[in-house]
Amino acid sequence: MLKVQDYRPQPFTDFTNPENVAAYQAALEKVRAELVGKHYPLIINGERVDTAERLTSINPCDTSEVIGTTAKATIEDAQRALEGAWEAFETWKAWDMDARARILLKAAAILKRRRLEACALMTLEVGKNYAEADVEVAEAIDFLEYYARSAMKYAGFGAAETTWFEGEENGLLYLPLGVGVSISPWNFPCAIFTGMLAAPLVVGNCVLAKPAEDSGMIAGFMVDILLEAGLPAGVLQFLPGIGSEVGEYLTTHPKTRFITFTGSRAVGLHINEVAAKIQPGQKWIKKVVLELGGKDALIVDETADLDVAVTAATQSAFGFNGQKCSAMSRLIVVDEVYDTVVNAFVERAKSLKVGTGEENAAVTAVVNEESFEKIRQYLALGKQEGQVLLGGEAPGEWGGKKGYYVQPTIIGDVKPEARIAQEEIFGPVVAVLRARDWQDALRIANSTEYGLTGGVCSQDRQRLEQARAEFEVGNLYFNRKITGAIVGVQPFGGYNMSGTDSKAGGPDYLANFLQLKAVTERW
Ligand code: NAD
Repeated sequence: MLKVQDYRPQPFTDFTNPENVAAYQAALEKVRAELVGKHYPLIINGERVDTAERLTSINPCDTSEVIGTTAKATIEDAQRALEGAWEAFETWKAWDMDARARILLKAAAILKRRRLEACALMTLEVGKNYAEADVEVAEAIDFLEYYARSAMKYAGFGAAETTWFEGEENGLLYLPLGVGVSISPWNFPCAIFTGMLAAPLVVGNCVLAKPAEDSGMIAGFMVDILLEAGLPAGVLQFLPGIGSEVGEYLTTHPKTRFITFTGSRAVGLHINEVAAKIQPGQKWIKKVVLELGGKDALIVDETADLDVAVTAATQSAFGFNGQKCSAMSRLIVVDEVYDTVVNAFVERAKSLKVGTGEENAAVTAVVNEESFEKIRQYLALGKQEGQVLLGGEAPGEWGGKKGYYVQPTIIGDVKPEARIAQEEIFGPVVAVLRARDWQDALRIANSTEYGLTGGVCSQDRQRLEQARAEFEVGNLYFNRKITGAIVGVQPFGGYNMSGTDSKAGGPDYLANFLQLKAVTERW
């Protein structure tokens, strides 16, 4: 019997142990020998389909290196995939819940065996260092195991309770929605890609998965694992392609029943708008689940433990180069301890080693040229909107390698309304804001339109309780980093313009992909 109570998150690997470092380096060699240069075609109705054009994955830490390619889906491919998925849905929806769940569990077992390969592939494709890649693959395994087990509560007639009524049998039945599109970002190209397709699949939907343009290889790697685990043909269609082409086609299509999207605010809001427009022949209101950006703040007050605060700020700001929706991009410090905290933060950040993912640097290159150029513009703006305390340059090369390198950057005395304090930069750039006192700090923290993660470093119980109620974020952390949510432990999703707060890895996430039918029989 599968029970969610039996779920346990994967432990992380300890890279202070030289044996684990050596194993990682061996995996990098294996991936270089076996996966670099590989091509991943589309998968439609269980068949590998190639296309005339391809998408290329480049090593962001050494842009002279091509990691591999994927096919690039056309509109015709997407149309065929959509039709095929609706055919597959007819049988997939009737599978027993536990039989579908077992496929996820088997996929999790395969991924556990191939964990280091998946990590090494991400190190090369998106520049993750060892620990960042390791926790991400752990999260992908967790999503598979957690969703497999939590699906069971939706199985069968009467899965949700109703009130007893004389002379009748009443009950609720959870039914899958149909065929949907899952559109994912490059920054968690293994975990988010996997979680966003595993959840709708396990409860009986069919999914067209469109990964981000920069990270198609790790997505192809994961799809191969899911097929090896036993997913029948047509249930999962793999459609790497251009967002504004194939993504746009699928989100506007009348036969798309639901859309699950994780990415930027701009694209998410656009999808929300086009999905709301009813197309000729469309029979339903599309269900849209959106997980978007953030402008996440950590507040440090005068009662905080300095070391805890500085560690929390450094990890939250610069882990994976600030390319996390949960990353701390605003540090809000009360005036009384501003200088002490900011000086210590700058000193700690100075010690971060910049370099390649392969050499396990703390800060590596950002993902692509578009990101790099966008961050450069914000660095220029930051020089006008505050005082550069650390970094401020994007050299575009490091250690003789051309890549999208940006220095860890801290900009002090930024005003709360400044653009660098309001807009998502998505790089290793922190705006530091001075607050008069705790109440002012909380007001500043809530002064953006986002509401994803936030944190407070304080030893004052009443302030923590006030933040618990009033800090407007979906994920709030006290006296620790504000990144690194664990599946099942910290269900994840944001408020306001950060998304629809669907809480991935949470107890109700699968309900996003189900509809309830109340059935009554009069005896
Ligand atoms: P993005 O919005 O540029 O792209 C995301 C996906 O959308 C990609 O697969 C892309 O191809 C596709 N896309 C682009 N245009 C489209 C269109 N018109 N129609 C359909 N699909 C389209 O985001 P990104 O740069 O890949 O990822 C970074 C962003 O994701 C950041 O804003 C980050 O905060 C956010 N993010 C949020 C969460 C969360 O859980 N809230 C998690 C990770 C990342």
